[in-house]
Amino acid sequence: MKKIAVFTSGGDSPGMNACIRAAVRTAVASNLEVFGIHRGYEGMIDNLIYPMAADSVSNIIQDGGTILKTARSARFMTPEGRAIAASNLKVLGIEGLVCIGGDGSYTGANVLQQEHGIKTIGCPGTIDNDLFGTDYTIGFDTAVNTALEAIDKIRDTAESHNRIFFIEVMGRHSGHIALYSGIAGGAEGIFIPERQNELESIIAQYGLPKRQKAFSIFIVAEGDEEGHAYTIAKKFTEAYPGLDTRVSILGHIQRGGSPSANDRILATRLGAAAVLALKEGKQNLAAGIINNQVVFTPFSEAIGRKKDVPMELWATNELICS
Ligand code: ATP
Repeated sequence: MKKIAVFTSGGDSPGMNACIRAAVRTAVASNLEVFGIHRGYEGMIDNLIYPMAADSVSNIIQDGGTILKTARSARFMTPEGRAIAASNLKVLGIEGLVCIGGDGSYTGANVLQQEHGIKTIGCPGTIDNDLFGTDYTIGFDTAVNTALEAIDKIRDTAESHNRIFFIEVMGRHSGHIALYSGIAGGAEGIFIPERQNELESIIAQYGLPKRQKAFSIFIVAEGDEEGHAYTIAKKFTEAYPGLDTRVSILGHIQRGGSPSANDRILATRLGAAAVLALKEGKQNLAAGIINNQVVFTPFSEAIGRKKDVPMELWATNELICS
């Protein structure tokens, strides 16, 4: 392996730049030629592939987003699109890829290897933390801290006005951000898609005299099966007419911002490990960190397997909210 390329794909997440930086610098230190592909698989098809050097990644570790840009590519879902992408890589002599993205991006890389023999190591870049094969994904810690900062601020106004707030956080299919930010933010109840029927029990518990408080914070993952925060707030008010409820939807602020120290370190470890793995001839593996050790999980085992929220953390939440 002499030439590799790095790219970001799917939704952006804070820490992607730290991962790009580590991959590029590790490649340079390992005497590999390294390229950056702009706009993910779209750029692979459009030949937006440029040489990178150690100084291409100076002064980016603290920045959110991705200097390589990201995209979703419908063309890459077709064999024709992938053939163009593979041909562009082969013309430049690129044999290996570091793909920073989520489950869909890993799937695309897996297909590219099967059809065209391009080797890929994946780094888990998504705020959702639901990828299999790693305890944490790059961007999750920052997203939780961003949500927490907002929750703490909303708590001030909830307390001042004696209001019940339903705060919706990101997680279309995943409750990790809701669970972690809810526990850290002292929420009265947490709604996540991985667990069913929270509404019934939370409404019942709220009726207990010991739970009656002048103000409360509830956290709702956007993909909860009961519906969005507005729906849950409405059902809550139907059960307890007269409550002064408010809804706040945090939205895309959770995806941006300067990455936390944890995300920068995670991204750096995984970006470096991915390049070293490619150099050793490894392929089609998802890099991750489990119990503070770098591990590699075959794409065939990682793809399509959603990581559940930690049971112990959910049980603790149920105890302290009961
Ligand atoms: P996020 O967690 O932010 O959604 P992701 O990597 O899962 O990140 P997707 O949009 O699902 O994001 O996938 C990124 C890109 O990967 C797609 O736009 C597509 O180009 C490619 N991809 C996804 N699934 C496949 C597939 N089955 N075959 C080929 N390419 C795929």
